[in-house]
Order: sequence, then C-alpha cells, then structure tokens
Amino acid sequence: MARYTGAHCRQCRREGMKLFLKGDRCYTDKCAFARRGYAPGQHGQSKKKLSNYGIQLREKQKAKRIYGVLEGQFRRYYEKAETMRGITGENLLKLLEMRLDNVVFKLGYGASRREARQLVNHGHFLVNGHRVDIASYKLSVGDVITVSEKSRASERFKVFAANPKALPKWLSGNVENFEAKVISEPAREDIDVPVNETLIVELYSR
Ligand code: SF4
Repeated sequence: MARYTGAHCRQCRREGMKLFLKGDRCYTDKCAFARRGYAPGQHGQSKKKLSNYGIQLREKQKAKRIYGVLEGQFRRYYEKAETMRGITGENLLKLLEMRLDNVVFKLGYGASRREARQLVNHGHFLVNGHRVDIASYKLSVGDVITVSEKSRASERFKVFAANPKALPKWLSGNVENFEAKVISEPAREDIDVPVNETLIVELYSR
C-alpha cells in the first residue's frame, strides 16, 4: 500500500498545528512546529486569508495526514461513508478510526500511527487468530486483536506491555495480556482527532 514518504514535520507546519506524526519527538523541543510554527516554503510566513474552499481543503488534508492515508484511498473512504447509514462525516471518521493500524496505536503499540503501521506491516498482529499485515484492514465489532506468540517475547513488545495506555470506550482488553477486542463502533465523542468532518463533507459535495 502506498504511503507518504516526504517530510512529516512539514505536514504539521502546513496545517498550522502539531499532528503528532513522529511519536516521542513531538513532545520534545526538537519538534519542528514548536521551532518554526509557520507554513513551509518561501511564502510560509506571509499572512493570507483562506477562502471557504481553502478552509475545507485544509481540513481534508489534515485528516489524511493524521491517519496517514493518501488521496485516492481517502476519497474511497468518503464514498463508502456516503453509502452508510447515519451522518456521512461521522461515518468517514469511524472508517478511519477502525483501521487496524489506528487500533494498534490506540492500544498502545507504537508512539505514533506511523510506528503502529510499521508494526502491522511486519506481521506482529493477529485478528481473530489470523495474521493480518495490512495496515488499512477494517476491523469490525467483535474482532479480537492479539500479538503473535513470537513477538510477545521481543524486548519492544515487553516495553509496550509495561506501559499500558488508557483505552477508548469502544475497545477492551489490555496490553499486558497482548489481547484486545473491539466492543463497539466508536461514537463521535470517542474520536479525539482535531478535525471538523463537516468541512470535509462540504468539500466533497461541491
Ligand atoms: Fe509535527 Fe511531531 Fe514534527 Fe512536531 S515533531 S512538527 S508534532 S511531526
């Protein structure tokens, strides 16, 4: 699956906020946004007022960047969200939130979604007992995520197990036992990304 390979800090600077794409580094004074909190490029420091379209576009770009999804795939998520029952914007966020790499990150494996994605790609996780190495794999309610027996013994996973994170309401289990379950779909209030999904719907509805 294709992924963004450019500079991640540049994305935060473009969106005008910290997107926490690099894990631990984002909490240190090495954070590029903390040091240069303006847009990249020659005109990055000039102030210009965004049009409605520009505001909507930036919101879509921000969501894509947080979840590490490229344009085509994001568009497909939107098209799927439109066909689902309920509010399209919320459906879109739910689809993104229930990706395997995002769930692995929420469970505490990896300091960023990017690291979690790498862990999934390297085949460390099983879903309902079967190895899944596709970061975009869409989880369903009732799915059980476990860490493979071999990976549990590794130092990296022992560190994860020793530092459990608080889980969102829609996930149960614990990292100490290397097992978790999706107990419900996330409600909008359970999704803590700083994105106004209504603006994304407005953009795609033009
Ligand atoms: Fe963004 Fe993290 Fe880079 Fe700071 S260190 S600019 S939060 S990716």
